[in-house]
Amino acid sequence: MDLLEYQGKQLFARHGLKVSSGRAVADVEGAVAAGAEVGYPVVVKAQVLIGGRGKAGGVKLAEDEQQLREHAGNILGMNIRGHTVHTLWIEHASDIAAEYYAAVLLDRSAKKPLVMFSTEGGVDIEEVAARDPERLIRRHVDLLRGLSREQALSIAREGGADADVVEQVADALVALYEVWLAEDAILAEINPLIVTPAREVRALDAKVSLDDNALFRHPDNQSLSDTANEDPIEARAKEQGVQYVKLDGDIGILGNGAGLVMSTLDVVAQAGGSPANFLDAGGGSNAEKIRQAVELLLANDAVKAVLFNIFGGITRGDEVARGLIEAFEQIKPVVPFVVRLDGTNDVEGRRLLQEAALPNVYQAATMNEAAEMVVALAAGRPVGARA
Ligand code: GDP
Ligand code: MN
Repeated sequence: MDLLEYQGKQLFARHGLKVSSGRAVADVEGAVAAGAEVGYPVVVKAQVLIGGRGKAGGVKLAEDEQQLREHAGNILGMNIRGHTVHTLWIEHASDIAAEYYAAVLLDRSAKKPLVMFSTEGGVDIEEVAARDPERLIRRHVDLLRGLSREQALSIAREGGADADVVEQVADALVALYEVWLAEDAILAEINPLIVTPAREVRALDAKVSLDDNALFRHPDNQSLSDTANEDPIEARAKEQGVQYVKLDGDIGILGNGAGLVMSTLDVVAQAGGSPANFLDAGGGSNAEKIRQAVELLLANDAVKAVLFNIFGGITRGDEVARGLIEAFEQIKPVVPFVVRLDGTNDVEGRRLLQEAALPNVYQAATMNEAAEMVVALAAGRPVGARA
């Protein structure tokens, strides 16, 4: 479970990490009240579960109430790469002398926690890792001993933290490790960890991801799952009990079974396409399930074409075809669909589709062919072989 910045900061504060004081608000008037409480200048920050908010215009400085109103009004409702802003975090603005980076995460291959630190914070850390790997310090921690102050100090020094703040950086690393461990986090990241001109070290951002499997141990944290900020289509899918994941592209993908859906993503990417979402209808998809799935896929406006990849096992091809025909009668989609039906009762299914002659539905014989077709259709290029 990913946490919003302000929720992550609450966990930080619980474990002694320094953060700026602020308030989470849902409207402009709330923001104005928060501004008066925390004191100007303030930073207005979009609370969405995606990084790079600053670059997208979701983080703004306000010197006074007028600017706060303007920024809060602009940022609320803003869509940041598919995430709508429902909540703002208003915090007292910090002066910044340096921006560092710190993170604790689980290194699955080493089966150990990993501490990362860099003095090149505030930017995309993957960029630093690629361009200047030695500027990103990576140290494993012995899970039984934990992160000692000595090890934290050596990480801070090796990373090149300014000499006068090395102790504070080490404290921050130890506290961050404590957050990671005590809260059962998968990731606890601070970017940037700032040094103020008054030489105080403080977390200016928070990215925390909690382990869902350990949530039962943290009743306090269970309420942090924020349905208002969840993608509404993902929330609907969850209610209907289907696996739906939103992505950034323009091709909707539906398959039955997780493995098939994953390989469908791969072949679409290989054909030069970019999936907008994927949905696993699971085994035994009946007509009603197919209709729901089509509705979910099309609820995303970015979808320009849909690839329906069904390999019948328990799921019968004729049933899927009937579901699709029924769904089309009710929904009347305007985007093209490519259907690849194989496996149990595939001949019957394909015949049903052909007879129904649904507008904008194309049949493909193989997965690769289906991928090529859907990529072409999404790009507005014509293809042959209508159903
Ligand atoms: P992100 O873009 O989603 O990672 O959001 P951040 O919380 O990291 O903010 C982006 C950038 O805005 C930071 O790297 C800072 O440069 C800047 N910023 C955020 N808060 C403050 C602040 O209190 N004072 C100043 N001067 N800059 C800030
Ligand atoms: Mn950041």
